[in-house]
Amino acid sequence: FVQGVFVQGRSRWHQRRFSHLKITMADGDPICEWILGEGGASKIKRVTPVGGGCINVANRYDTDFGVYFVKTNRDAETSMFEAEAAGLNAMLGTKTIRVPKPRKVGSLPRKGSYIIMEFIEFSFSGGNQADLGRQLARMHKTGTSESGFGFVMDNTIGSTPQPNPWTNDWVDFYREYRLGYQLKLVQQQYRDNDLYEKGQRLLERLPFLLKDLKITPSLLHGDLWSGNVAYDKEGMPVILDPACYYGHNEAEFGMSWCAGFGDPFYKAYFEVLG
Ligand code: ADP
Repeated sequence: FVQGVFVQGRSRWHQRRFSHLKITMADGDPICEWILGEGGASKIKRVTPVGGGCINVANRYDTDFGVYFVKTNRDAETSMFEAEAAGLNAMLGTKTIRVPKPRKVGSLPRKGSYIIMEFIEFSFSGGNQADLGRQLARMHKTGTSESGFGFVMDNTIGSTPQPNPWTNDWVDFYREYRLGYQLKLVQQQYRDNDLYEKGQRLLERLPFLLKDLKITPSLLHGDLWSGNVAYDKEGMPVILDPACYYGHNEAEFGMSWCAGFGDPFYKAYFEVLG
């Protein structure tokens, strides 16, 4: 992507030279235009790929006005990153756990889209799982919804669409838009009728399995595995790349099989949540 963008152009940006890159800015590169406009920078010093993502291409943009983190996707509509930004903003709104502040979402010139956000420098030495548990529990407790279960928009988990229509009852939401929806995908894409049929039997039993539980909607990160948890330079937890929705708080642990949460995490979490 970087190579694709930084080609010779004749725009008003044409004269801006990246001395070390020996290239000039492309016509209408919306990422650079935003960074050099609203983003407050007058010079982009360096663009460096960031590895570790699963879906998108990620780069850090070092400027004379700080660092931006940018993800691009050649195929995705802007709605994918708009939903990511809405999730990040919802979590930010709880003022409980650190998440990067989204700054701009837009479309790429020919096809695809991008998101620009705050760059957070991560600590190599990690942090304390108890802080993560405590702050996540505070987010679940503070992030409530008056519209029920769901989210302001559909989003994606990985690159799989995730429907989030507002629904009053958790069992209905979970049955229809989480398990039921995924089972349909399994059947359509992998023709796994056996799993589908077993899943249908589980769906029928859900109201019984969850009966008498009083479930209130909590704001969930929605994709909380180890790749989406980091610690900043102060050692405080940061959660990234969400698939947010309001759901049963324990649905957050659906990804715990690859999150590496230990006893200190759960102890701190349930101390806050009770
Ligand atoms: P994808 O959407 O492709 O899964 P991620 O959001 O997981 O991509 O990000 C890709 C990489 O960038 C990961 O290694 C992640 O730790 C890092 N990263 C994500 N957000 C930020 C950020 N705001 N600041 C710095 N690094 C980030």
